[in-house]
Amino acid sequence: MIDQYGWSERLQRQFEPYAADGLLPGRVIVQQRGLYRLATPLGEVSAELSGRFLHAAAPGEHPVAGDWTACLPRPGEARADIRAVLPREGLFQRKDPLGGVQAVAAHVDVALLVASLNADLNLRRLERYLALAWQSGAQPAVVLTKADLCPNVEDLVLAVESTAVGAEVFAVSALEGEGLDAVRALLPPGRTGVLLGSSGVGKSTLVNALLGEARMATREIREDDARGRHTTTHRELVLLPGGGLLLDTPGMRELGLWDADEGVSAIFADVEALAGQCRFSDCSHEREPGCAVRAALERGALDEGRWRSYVKLQRELAWLDRRDDPLARQEQRRIWTHRTKAFRAHLKQRDRDR
Ligand code: GDP
Ligand code: ZN
Repeated sequence: MIDQYGWSERLQRQFEPYAADGLLPGRVIVQQRGLYRLATPLGEVSAELSGRFLHAAAPGEHPVAGDWTACLPRPGEARADIRAVLPREGLFQRKDPLGGVQAVAAHVDVALLVASLNADLNLRRLERYLALAWQSGAQPAVVLTKADLCPNVEDLVLAVESTAVGAEVFAVSALEGEGLDAVRALLPPGRTGVLLGSSGVGKSTLVNALLGEARMATREIREDDARGRHTTTHRELVLLPGGGLLLDTPGMRELGLWDADEGVSAIFADVEALAGQCRFSDCSHEREPGCAVRAALERGALDEGRWRSYVKLQRELAWLDRRDDPLARQEQRRIWTHRTKAFRAHLKQRDRDR
């Protein structure tokens, strides 16, 4: 049950102290005004924060959709009390009105940055979404929608590839079902994705296409509220037919409105400053003496997840450099020319069939 929801050996290790206390792991499927729905080894349960947790935790530490919690089931009831939240990775946050930050979604593996191939494709905006994704620690991928409306898919894909450092770029038409398999492949069983993008770019259409027939069956939960009425809530963490997971919450949708107006490198300015303090200028930050990065990780001054995310970005950049050599570029171009030709041929055929 929880394997489906992305439970891993790493999480299992982090969970050991809670397991010793008789607690169960539970992933947040829905979070609504202090009420939670969890996927646990015993099945789905409704849950609330325990008094002790409420007392000890700051509001920013309250679980959000995608979080893994440690909960205590109430005997004989399909209910549980949430005692703790496991360390977060792939965390999306937004600024709150009081100047703090608020968690929006946790344990996100893949961030699909959605933009439309029609007239208002905005590279600057895409760059900001990319920055948000790198900041979270999730792997970004760009999905360019409405390919069926675009006469020069190939040119735009190349333009986006050179902007979206370290992210794979996909062109799709949700309307025609074109390119969707490549997007599905980004979300194999147990991996959690989110969609980021401005209103109108085709996020809902894409979600529905990914969900396919499973849409009605998986999206809604019927629940009896305190007065015995049936209420219907939307699931925020949805299992896709292929086994991947999609996290789709109102908070996540609003995240696009928040201006993450920093360049990708500015996000890691603190990490780069640390790396500059290592004793050796070519420090690999693995086991060299006098490594400021390792020291900061050990002190807890540098977040492990952020560090991994930085390393990942560096690797992507190195790959991009290699790709910048003319031969590799030619190869990229050849692949894309082939793909767009095939796509155009498909469109022509479709028009003929009409
Ligand atoms: P959201 O606001 O990002 O969720 O965008 P929607 O999914 O509601 O889509 C906005 C509009 O774009 C709708 O009218 C969709 O029918 C249309 N749309 C979405 N995907 C495609 C596509 O692949 N091709 C075409 N031609 N239209 C699309
Ligand atoms: Zn170092």
